[in-house]
Amino acid sequence: MITRRFLLCCFAILLPLGNLQISTSAINAADEGRDELLRKMDERADHFGGLSRRIWEFAEVGYKEKQSSDLLKSELRAAGFEIRENVAEIPTAFVASYGGGKPVIGILGEFDALPELSQDSIPEKKALAAGAPGHGCGHNLFGVASAFAAITVKDYLMGKNLPGTIRFYGTPAEEGGAGKVYMARAGVFNDCDVIMAWHPGDANSASLKSSLANISAKFRFYGQAAHAAAAPDKGRSSLDAVMVMSHAVDLMREHVPSTTRIHYIITQGGGAPNIVPDFAEIYMYARHPNMPTLDGIWARIVKCAEAGALATETRMEMALVASVYNELPNEPLANLIDKNLRRVGGVKYTAEEQAFAEKLRQTFSLDGALPLGSQEQAQQVEGGVSSASTDVSDVSWMAPTTEFTAATYVPGTPGHSWQSTACSGHSIGRKGMVVAAKTLALSAVDLIQDAKLIEAARADFNKRRAGHDYRSRIPANQKPPLNYRDK
Ligand SMILES: [Zn+2]
Ligand SMILES: [Zn+2]
Repeated sequence: MITRRFLLCCFAILLPLGNLQISTSAINAADEGRDELLRKMDERADHFGGLSRRIWEFAEVGYKEKQSSDLLKSELRAAGFEIRENVAEIPTAFVASYGGGKPVIGILGEFDALPELSQDSIPEKKALAAGAPGHGCGHNLFGVASAFAAITVKDYLMGKNLPGTIRFYGTPAEEGGAGKVYMARAGVFNDCDVIMAWHPGDANSASLKSSLANISAKFRFYGQAAHAAAAPDKGRSSLDAVMVMSHAVDLMREHVPSTTRIHYIITQGGGAPNIVPDFAEIYMYARHPNMPTLDGIWARIVKCAEAGALATETRMEMALVASVYNELPNEPLANLIDKNLRRVGGVKYTAEEQAFAEKLRQTFSLDGALPLGSQEQAQQVEGGVSSASTDVSDVSWMAPTTEFTAATYVPGTPGHSWQSTACSGHSIGRKGMVVAAKTLALSAVDLIQDAKLIEAARADFNKRRAGHDYRSRIPANQKPPLNYRDK
């Protein structure tokens, strides 16, 4: 927990609690300022809830989030933010800034949907449009909560005439497109003192967790087509190459560190059984908590691909899709978020929301799930390594970064599911989004008014980075894969 903090008195002078006596009236004034901030957020919650519902309805996949990005930009522009568009050669990436000077506080916002997860906001499986994308990761809430917080902080800075810069980062294509890696490469996070992000989830929790580094690529094999019955000896099967490679990778699983994760799909395997396939493709992910270890595992996966080509007399090409680092957590920032999450409180359901939640919980396994009602509190801060990967991780190597979850899903709801899409379009999701926005806004205000907090976050960041190099595994000349979702 945070043991020392600075508070702002009503005359906008920083008073260090440890060095000076602070009058009770000064503390009360600071608290009243925050109470007022929270009250104003309650008044605007419906407006931002409406924006999140619209982005949920747009449901645009990675790098194609034009309407979602435009809606957030217009909201921030109307609030007085200066917008830098087309960042890192990504049409839907942008940076919205307000204010000037130090500190510079960045808040990340995502807004991409997932393929094939279309779902109505009801507690039974029913697609809005069969096979269409849906917000199964709740990024419609992610982007809007972060913009809501940034606009609130801007009003606070303006109202109190305080120095400092608040930035909203519009970060596309988190789901497999690694948009933030390209934005990091363009240097847009370099001058930030602190960066905050959150993520929709089934619990309210600050985090000290790291995440899995991840490399993904499409391996393409080119063979020779021939009639599969009349002239099989003339053919060289690219599908055979995929199968040799996948078998080699499956055998390799036993001989990699147990914390490794490898998964793949076969995206193309030929046109018809009576034609020897001259083209086949396998889309491969590998993950590990440590990037240098993952490098070694990945090099062996490439050997499996080469073996596939060698054995089948086909040609192999590897197209790297994405690579993200493991996340660097930050203890002072996690403690700050935890404090503010507890102040904001969790999500309280109405009778109708309770009925939705009970019905939804009948549709998935409750093994290990938090009980209904847990969404009303904050969970304990946990360390360790999460089983996910995120491009927020690359940002965490640029500046002190923290990420937390808010309970936008009914407790127990699996991510990337029709159930999480349903919650993300429901009032339950919008309530969790407001918890996230309030926590971000309070934390940004604390950071702006307490230089010691920023120093502590920087010291922790320097300690965790010491002895490690950050070097993205995406080649320097590779452009963002703007069409990676195209079939
Ligand atoms: Zn996701
Ligand atoms: Zn996500």
